[in-house]
Amino acid sequence: MRHVRNVPWRLIAIGLLAYLSLFNVALATTPTVHGPVTGADGSVWLGDGDGLLLGAARSANAPRRIPGVGPIQALWLTERGVLALDPIQLWAVDATAGNATAVAGTRPQQLLPAQLQCRCWWLLGERGVQLLQALGDRWSTVDIDLAGAPPPLQLLADIDGRLWLRTREGIDSYATSQLLEGSAADSRNTWWSAPALPAATTIAGVEATTSASAPSAVASFWQGAALSALLAALLGSLLYRRQQQRLRALDARGTQEVDQLVLRRTAELEIANRTLRDLADTDALTGVANRRHFDHLLREGLERALLTGRPLSVLLLDVDHFKQFNDSHGHLAGDEALRQLGHLLQEAVRSDTAVARYGGEEFAIISPTRPSEALGLAERLRRHIETHSDMRVSIGVASFKPLTDHDESALLARADRALYGAKAAGRNCVRGADSSPMQARERQTASPEPTRPALDESKS
Ligand code: GH3
Ligand code: MG
Ligand code: MG
Repeated sequence: MRHVRNVPWRLIAIGLLAYLSLFNVALATTPTVHGPVTGADGSVWLGDGDGLLLGAARSANAPRRIPGVGPIQALWLTERGVLALDPIQLWAVDATAGNATAVAGTRPQQLLPAQLQCRCWWLLGERGVQLLQALGDRWSTVDIDLAGAPPPLQLLADIDGRLWLRTREGIDSYATSQLLEGSAADSRNTWWSAPALPAATTIAGVEATTSASAPSAVASFWQGAALSALLAALLGSLLYRRQQQRLRALDARGTQEVDQLVLRRTAELEIANRTLRDLADTDALTGVANRRHFDHLLREGLERALLTGRPLSVLLLDVDHFKQFNDSHGHLAGDEALRQLGHLLQEAVRSDTAVARYGGEEFAIISPTRPSEALGLAERLRRHIETHSDMRVSIGVASFKPLTDHDESALLARADRALYGAKAAGRNCVRGADSSPMQARERQTASPEPTRPALDESKS
């Protein structure tokens, strides 16, 4: 099936059409031969594309061409010779004299022998129907008045001597005697007699001419056929190449479109992946990094610190008396407080510092700072929270020591111990694992009276 579809049917059809039209042109240009016709006196007439030939029956002489007569379109035998129509006019050619006389001023489309006794001809041409007759050596035409009949297209005669006219509206018949009476009274007295139509007699010369023209027609047919086949093949190959080019262009455009689609899909996929990664790394409640991502960041940070020697500190932050807050205000309010805490932490740190929810109401911060700077950061965060919320927090701080912290859990354990220290010191304060303890800030002096009960108030 695919095979059938691949055949260039359209090209074949166009080629075939081109071939047939050219073939017809070749046939149309093939010269037409009129005759030969043989007169009662043995004269033999032949019309061809070059003019009129006159020969004699049983004569060894080659036929001769009648001068002045153009390519023959029609040929009628008369008693004394022929009437021959060329593209310009009608000629009466006398067999005895062998010369051509131009007849009338009109070029007839049709010529029809009139009544046998009449020895004259009906002409159908631009001027309508005319009667053509020979008066001695002279030819004359008389216009026939058809009494308002529509213009005839064709003349027909019957054996009763009636003239029939085929018009667009039908066929009319006229008694020729009527017409003749009204036109040419003495037409019966001409030297014309009934044109006898003897059987064709061949003569050597005419035969030669006739048979000579036949092969040329055949040759021109084959030339035309070959030419049209060549042109059809050329046209076919041109069209085929154009179609191939168009297909290639379509192909290229298709590939380009596919490439663009792939690029677009890849970009969309990357965005989707990033979104998924972000979702996987983010704590759903607070919007900061989750514990999994924190572990990853801490591992990365420690490796970098080991390689570069740059400082790294971890802050563990725990909300003071958060259970009590939940008990007093409900878990939804507790959730909202945790969300606020995440936001407060995030807005207070630099872009190189990571904030994560460590678990429950505990947060962890990874900061590329030395111990003293980390304690300063912790204190700044504690105050920021105290100033902007009802929560109070305790923070434990530990800085990475390459010699003793073999992995992240050692560092975290020290930070956790420091946090415990802060809790033990009364909460709402910062403790460092390695530095001298920072004094817990007195709650009463640090924060104004909160709008809802301060979280550490009940335990103080
Ligand atoms: P301390 O000062 O000793 O830390 O007291 P605390 O009450 O904060 O400590 P505790 O560990 O007893 O209580 C922690 C509370 O935090 C218990 C739990 O209900 C609450 N909590 C943990 N995660 C969430 C959470 O996602 N939402 C809410 N609303 N509460 C949470
Ligand atoms: Mg806790
Ligand atoms: Mg707590």
